[in-house]
Amino acid sequence: MCSAGGPIEVDLNDPLKDRGKKYRCNDCGQTFTGLGKHPMCPSCQSENVTEI
Ligand SMILES: [Zn+2]
Repeated sequence: MCSAGGPIEVDLNDPLKDRGKKYRCNDCGQTFTGLGKHPMCPSCQSENVTEI
């Protein structure tokens, strides 16, 4: 048996690719990357945003 601590495999292929879309908040002008169908402004928590 050769069970010496081998190298830990690190998955370099990030499964969570950048799938976010960019949005701009219509209330405060903040631009951010949102996920999901109802992105929310991280600055003012407004859902009044436009995809850019
Ligand atoms: Zn905002």
